[in-house]
Amino acid sequence: MSERIISPEPLTDEEEDLTLRPARLDAFIGQGQVKAALAIAIEAAQRRGEPIDHILFSGPPGLGKTTLAHIIAREMGAAIKTTTGPVLEKPGDIAALVTALKTGDVLFIDEIHRMNPVVEEILYPAMEDFFIDVLIGEGPSARSIKLTLEHFTLIGATTRQGLLSSPFRDRFGIIVRLNLYSTEDLVEIVTRSAAILKIPVTPEGAAEIAQRSRGTPRIGNRLLRRVRDFAVVKGDGTITGAIARDGLALLQIDALGLDDIDRRIISVIAEDFGGGPVGAKTIAISVGEEVRTIEEVYEPYLIQIGFLKRTPQGRETTPAAKQHLKLPQTTLF
Ligand code: ADP
Repeated sequence: MSERIISPEPLTDEEEDLTLRPARLDAFIGQGQVKAALAIAIEAAQRRGEPIDHILFSGPPGLGKTTLAHIIAREMGAAIKTTTGPVLEKPGDIAALVTALKTGDVLFIDEIHRMNPVVEEILYPAMEDFFIDVLIGEGPSARSIKLTLEHFTLIGATTRQGLLSSPFRDRFGIIVRLNLYSTEDLVEIVTRSAAILKIPVTPEGAAEIAQRSRGTPRIGNRLLRRVRDFAVVKGDGTITGAIARDGLALLQIDALGLDDIDRRIISVIAEDFGGGPVGAKTIAISVGEEVRTIEEVYEPYLIQIGFLKRTPQGRETTPAAKQHLKLPQTTLF
């Protein structure tokens, strides 16, 4: 850590992200109920002297799922191994990982809904009874052997809990949903990050950034870094309210934190499709993004602020959204 501070090389965004990750549960801001539930599960497991149950975190990207997985491992005094769903393609990929785990170790699988179903099935007995069946050899001489595993903890993170099969979901003892953060929590997060990165910020500056962070700590931290550059070039380095507003306007982020894609999503539905309902695929094609990105990254916030409604027929915009874009109110015929 100290080497980093005296290093003449500025930290990359990824390195800064690591320094911004709270290491302990009590440094994790917001998500009060989630923290309370996890604190109890951790303490109960510690008192029993057992590893903590398998945990599934769900919620939009950037809300702290990975951070919490690391916090849990640390609070349990356990080692953590991390991987992501899409890289686990073959049974051997997961077998190599779980057989190396010691009692109490945490295996963190990000984007767990994108794991190959074959791999998922290997995990069932691994999670429930701590063994796996591996196939040795090929063709007629192939045979299956049963390997006993140590009592590890699987922590999965997903942006799409609905895409997990129910037998898989049922094997997690603790299922936690993270919701978007309040502006007050984000003010605290941005202020904490600014202190760690030694960026001078006024309370008004932190509030301006927090309001535009779409309920998401990762976005708050990202905007903080972008505005830092603006403050250095256009001011004396301090992020004031005015500097934050001007810097974010330059990045085309509006007062609610909506960017160009958000505005296009709203305007496609409102203008091109008379307010909806429109299917997610059509929206994705119109704005040139993947359906998954629209559903996982953009929609949760637009729904949260009451700009978008999901109906069985598709997506609809609300009058508030049209007003925000200063679009004329559409009528059907
Ligand atoms: P996810 O895994 O849900 O995509 P991460 O755990 O990677 O999200 O969090 C993204 C960034 O946001 C982290 O670098 C961390 O610094 C910050 N962060 C997330 N949640 C919090 C929180 N509650 N308090 C402070 N910082 C947070």
